[in-house]
Amino acid sequence: MKTATFLLIISAGLAFPALACGQSSAAQAPTLTESQAEHTPEITEYSLPPEKLAKAEALYRTRTVLYLFDMIFGLAVLWAVLRLRIGPALRDFAELVSRNRFFQTLIFVPLLLLVIAIASLPLDIYGHHISLAYGLSVQGWVSWAGDWLKSEAVLVGIATLAVLGLFRIIAKSPRRWWFYFWLITLPFIVLLVFVAPVILDPMFNTFIALENIQPQLVRAIEKVTERGGLNIPREHMFEMKASEKVTTYNAYVTGIGATKRVVVWDNTARDMTMPEILFVFGHEMGHYVLNHIYKGLAFFAAISFAGLWLGRRIVIAMLARWGANWRIRDITDLASLPVFLLALTLLALVSEPVNSAFSRHLEHQADIYGLEVTHGLFPDNQHVAAAAFQKLGEKSYDYPTPNALLVFWSYDHPTIQQRIRFALHYDPWDTPRGPQYVK
Ligand SMILES: [Zn+2]
Repeated sequence: MKTATFLLIISAGLAFPALACGQSSAAQAPTLTESQAEHTPEITEYSLPPEKLAKAEALYRTRTVLYLFDMIFGLAVLWAVLRLRIGPALRDFAELVSRNRFFQTLIFVPLLLLVIAIASLPLDIYGHHISLAYGLSVQGWVSWAGDWLKSEAVLVGIATLAVLGLFRIIAKSPRRWWFYFWLITLPFIVLLVFVAPVILDPMFNTFIALENIQPQLVRAIEKVTERGGLNIPREHMFEMKASEKVTTYNAYVTGIGATKRVVVWDNTARDMTMPEILFVFGHEMGHYVLNHIYKGLAFFAAISFAGLWLGRRIVIAMLARWGANWRIRDITDLASLPVFLLALTLLALVSEPVNSAFSRHLEHQADIYGLEVTHGLFPDNQHVAAAAFQKLGEKSYDYPTPNALLVFWSYDHPTIQQRIRFALHYDPWDTPRGPQYVK
């Protein structure tokens, strides 16, 4: 099971802070300077040269199989944990060590998560192996293992707190716990989004104020923010040293209130032309201006409300059917935690198309904003946008013709092909309706 999936389920806070511009992730494209860019043939659609296309297709197939396998594997691990009665064994051990429920939880949750994490480790390792093999990642195994340990530690910390709260609420209100738990987690998720860019993200990557390394880029960006009638303070713009770990391009918006910021990966700032970087920035600015973080939080609140209501019913039904067989006493038993995880993993799985559609909608809005806010700032910004998408896709070996069902189900961005076609055809300036966001 993907750590991220679990984190999304338990805390969800980390699911929405980053609205990245790139697709998934990826390798080696020629660096274009501004003068060279003028000689680039005009892009009419997303296409890859034959050898890159073959590589993209192979990567697409591997990733699709991995994605489907991961989905089934996550459920299978939890099912095995229940069938093998690992929960009750860990619960008995925790009860042996302490009679206090608080300390029992402190023992039980990390051990259970450790079992799940170790069972899922081979898949995580294979995923990183693929990224290395395709040149999408340059991160060594020691550094990767360090990141894995750190993310597990963060996960255990957050999950333990959540489980402590959950079982306390279940004990107090056996019928309406799902609602109270939902209500209480909301401020914690907002807090998590607030602290993520200043506490969690720096655990994994280095961030430097953009002004300190690329003052000329900040000045160019300020022309874009002025055009959009917005003042993003300079101290809210960062460059991330992504090149230490990956070769792909990206930029994203994260944080809330005082920690809200735009982050550009150094790879992006290094390899794209200035107009292309400004378009990418315009897209991120769209997320910032259109309050996509807040919209994401509201969306998550709605989804998790429905998820917890349904989740309670599924947990009760599973316990009634198999509880005794799995040696789980009742819903207040710590050993019922894997049942909660199984129910929520199932719900996360079936709700994935809704999440993906919502994310694609926001990304499309940000694309529109990016096109509008850069219109007139440099010549032919529609082709500049198309060229930026082409580079993004080429660098990540993004497959040009993915399966429509896969896109519908799991793509959090429109496909590169869709984004390029839209950029080339979006021309509202001479129509009566005019542009949507930037007049
Ligand atoms: Zn985006």
